[in-house]
Amino acid sequence: MRPMLKPALARLWRDRETLQFGAVRRHARVVESVDRAVAAFLELIDGSRDGPTLLAAGERLGLDREYCNAILESLARSELLDDADALQQALGRHPRPRQELLGPDLASLSLVHPEPGEAAEVLQGRALARVEVRGAGRVGAALAAVLAAGGIGTVTVSDRGRVSARDCAPAGFPPTEIGRLRATAARELVHRSAGAATTDRRRRPGAGPAGPPTLVVLAPRSGSGAFTGLAAEAQELMRAGRPHLYAGVLEHLGVVGPLVVPGASACGSCATLARTDEDEAWPRLLAQLADDGPGRARSPACDSALATAVAGLAALHVELYLDGVLPPSVDGWCEISAADGMVRRLRLPGHPDCGCHWQSLPLARPGPAGTVRGG
Ligand SMILES: [Zn+2]
Repeated sequence: MRPMLKPALARLWRDRETLQFGAVRRHARVVESVDRAVAAFLELIDGSRDGPTLLAAGERLGLDREYCNAILESLARSELLDDADALQQALGRHPRPRQELLGPDLASLSLVHPEPGEAAEVLQGRALARVEVRGAGRVGAALAAVLAAGGIGTVTVSDRGRVSARDCAPAGFPPTEIGRLRATAARELVHRSAGAATTDRRRRPGAGPAGPPTLVVLAPRSGSGAFTGLAAEAQELMRAGRPHLYAGVLEHLGVVGPLVVPGASACGSCATLARTDEDEAWPRLLAQLADDGPGRARSPACDSALATAVAGLAALHVELYLDGVLPPSVDGWCEISAADGMVRRLRLPGHPDCGCHWQSLPLARPGPAGTVRGG
């Protein structure tokens, strides 16, 4: 291990001898009695030296070994240290241009997963994960691009037909893709977002072995699909025990969730039943909303900023889940309104009339070792 003070944290002097790491108050740590020698020692903890070399360098600054060791231990306990070796190894699994692109993401992970080496482990887990996004509209295409940029090893997008103007969004398809096959354009978008050269069509190094997806995102172009908990597609995912997340925009409302862990959390049918409790006609309305339904909007609304926010929030929830943290879309869903810009989280307990909880399984967690937090 080569200890490194987390480079993502700001270093701020509160007074002449008090150094604060981190600007966000809730997570900031304060190191007291930092004289000139200690400040110089802290500068050396940059990931270029292992422990014994650091202690020897501390001695040359006039600090005895035990004292330096105590500083290192205290920094580790305060979650200020990461392991430069582990970080370098995790990045090494990705091709070179990609390593630089992933730098800020990895720096963020080192703050969220605080133990030395933990962020590296999480990034490796992402590289092995496979996510399938169903739907390449404004939400789906952008979501796939963001996941690829976040280091998810394999992101596939399934959809039919050709890119139309209403599928285009700044984080997804640019207008130059109009008329191309959605599947092809999406594959190239994912490729570009992952930082790979467009001519390189091979599977990315670090990509997981071929196999079923770790998680499926249901992001149908017609946002009503994100509300269709009873669809045959969802039932098939439930039977296969495959975790899946609903995301979409319906009129001026964006929705992220529920993220369904079959047998362990509320499912899409639970969501439909919960909505039916509030409006008994909901299933009948839902049937008419379908893609070829008679009640569908003649010119569906999809605000660009709202679609981008939904794609970003959904991608964050997918990554949290893959990283071993339960996002708020498990046993709930988040709504984002274009009318007021508010994000609300609605609780979704398993519905007593839905059979999905009858056979209870432990929460499946594909992320790296560690405890499930949140939920
Ligand atoms: Zn259910």
